Amino acid sequence: MTIIPMLSQYSKQFNFDGHDMPAGRKGRIFSMICAQPFQTRKKIAEDTGIRPATVSKLVLDLIETGLVEESRPEEISQKGRPEIVLSPNVNRLVALVGYTVSRTIHCAAVNLAGEVLHVASEKTVADSVDPDRFITIMESLYRECMANLPKGAQFAGYSISLPGIVNEAEKKWVYSIYWPKLLGLDLNVLEQKLQTPVGVRKNLNCELHARFDKRSSQKTQSMVLVHWGLGIGAAYVCAQENGRRSSLGEIGHCCVDQASTAICKCGMVGCVEAEAGLWALKQKSSDPDMPIDERRFQTYLDQKDNEQDYARQIELMALTLRNVVLTLTPDEIVLTGPFTHNEAIFKRLLAAFDKALPPNSLITKDMRPHIIAGDKHNADELIGAAAHHFGKRLGELCAD
Ligand SMILES: [Zn+2]
Repeated sequence: MTIIPMLSQYSKQFNFDGHDMPAGRKGRIFSMICAQPFQTRKKIAEDTGIRPATVSKLVLDLIETGLVEESRPEEISQKGRPEIVLSPNVNRLVALVGYTVSRTIHCAAVNLAGEVLHVASEKTVADSVDPDRFITIMESLYRECMANLPKGAQFAGYSISLPGIVNEAEKKWVYSIYWPKLLGLDLNVLEQKLQTPVGVRKNLNCELHARFDKRSSQKTQSMVLVHWGLGIGAAYVCAQENGRRSSLGEIGHCCVDQASTAICKCGMVGCVEAEAGLWALKQKSSDPDMPIDERRFQTYLDQKDNEQDYARQIELMALTLRNVVLTLTPDEIVLTGPFTHNEAIFKRLLAAFDKALPPNSLITKDMRPHIIAGDKHNADELIGAAAHHFGKRLGELCAD
């Protein structure tokens, strides 16, 4: 098991010329060092068929580049001095990722192993943050992280991972419920200020790519990530021969009940989000203590008995999942957000899904996805956001 998440993605660029061809050899050797603990030059030569002298030369290049470190295990084996082992220097490349958690803005320095080395944060009053203020905060958090990069680290790039509606190509944050004054925010401005390229990503997309990479079975060829929280969103990825195809949908704005009169923030009526999204529940709730922050809402949910609550929301979400399955036929659906992290609600949702899409239905017998609740806290969003930069930089550092 590798200690580098998404290694299989980074490695693809080194395999273009066949495993025994000169081009891409350095990258393939680096991948082997990442994939196998206690890797040795001898083993690499045996496994690849590359001459030992050439392996030594290429490994030396990788050590000089700073990507690989060598060490001698402490224990002396019966055969005498143990062989020198090779391991990746995971702090050689560090990417910065800007992201939001509810109303807080963060910037994290993430290394090749997906470890968060430093986080800079700013708590804000999201309702009143305007574009100038937001850009200023992003800029100062970026500078704080840059000042805290580990010694010898090369800055790999800066990504911003955002919720809501994001136009990745034009680098625009089109819409997010928490940040009403940032409608259509142009992040090219930040790029000009920092004089460094800024990648703008949709948070669900980042999380999905990292999750898809560590899926338990290669049989899972397609996956949908559904986030049921403040709003409702989804991302889809499918493995293909030459990479991945992925897309984003706005499933929160599907209508699964024509009789619904719920008015959505998007301007339409009857969106599932306007019924089951946390923002809509908060609007309807008579409980002043009900939090609007997803993490605090999670605690609020876990602390009370929800046996009877949220029946309509669960039913609408089950119908939404039914439509997702019939449209995309994914092998796996990962559900995230406070509702599905609550065990009782998750179980009720699975039961409602089975009712909405009966296992014995003729159409769906062979297309039943594996439905799981994703882990509550994980670095997948950050790993996915950083991966884009790492792939590119590794390509440069491992160039033959
Ligand atoms: Zn809507």
